Amino acid sequence: MKRITIAIDGFSSCGKSTMAKSLARKIGYTYIDSGAMYRAVTLYCLDKGIIAPDGNIDETRLRDCLGKLYISFIPNRLTGSPDTYLDGVNVEEDIRQMRVSSQVSRISAIPFVREALVRQQQSMGKNKGVVMDGRDIGTTVFPDAELKIFVTADAQTRAMRRYNELKAKGDKANFDDILHNVIERDRIDQTRKVSPLRKADDAITLDNSNMSVKQQDEWLIEQYRKAAAEDNDRKD
Ligand code: C5P
Repeated sequence: MKRITIAIDGFSSCGKSTMAKSLARKIGYTYIDSGAMYRAVTLYCLDKGIIAPDGNIDETRLRDCLGKLYISFIPNRLTGSPDTYLDGVNVEEDIRQMRVSSQVSRISAIPFVREALVRQQQSMGKNKGVVMDGRDIGTTVFPDAELKIFVTADAQTRAMRRYNELKAKGDKANFDDILHNVIERDRIDQTRKVSPLRKADDAITLDNSNMSVKQQDEWLIEQYRKAAAEDNDRKD
């Protein structure tokens, strides 16, 4: 079977990464979390004062630093998933904190940030055999992906899932803050000028509000089988 490209886009906290990771593991593909890359840049900006305490972003400094930042993914043997590294340091935990979540959509709306990260993402997936999740994978990063999924769920459900996830990790979590963050990120992601979050015309929509993780995984593997078989028929 030829390897294909799988793009999974959708709204914040709707379980894209859980389903993408699980699929990649089952079919032996590489999982790439494009959101983690925007989060890593945001973490860097917060730590280096490029985002000032009043929220102001120093775009000139960011532009200078961006080319020198090295973001990579290294498999974690314990979790079985790749961890995100920024300049060789594991930042997987840090990039999931609320201080990063509350700024990441502003950083990812900056055109030169998107250009730089999209280029890296395209290079990571150039040999196919990848499952990449994000907001613009099917529309901008891999417009020719053989399988495109657009995931959605109602905002309350998504915020509750995120809340439970943070609680399970022992983090402090406030449901209202999370709900506000989810809604606000969706708004910024959908209204930004460069590659806004939208469903690609040829993407399949999945509303997983009332689905279990198992049901969602089964649905996705079925979509993969169909797309891979169609691709095989097309090219043989
Ligand atoms: O996927 P995750 O929620 O971790 O992504 C964090 C943020 O990064 C999103 O809210 C969005 O602003 C941005 N993002 C993006 N394009 C992508 C992936 C993420 O703009 N391909």
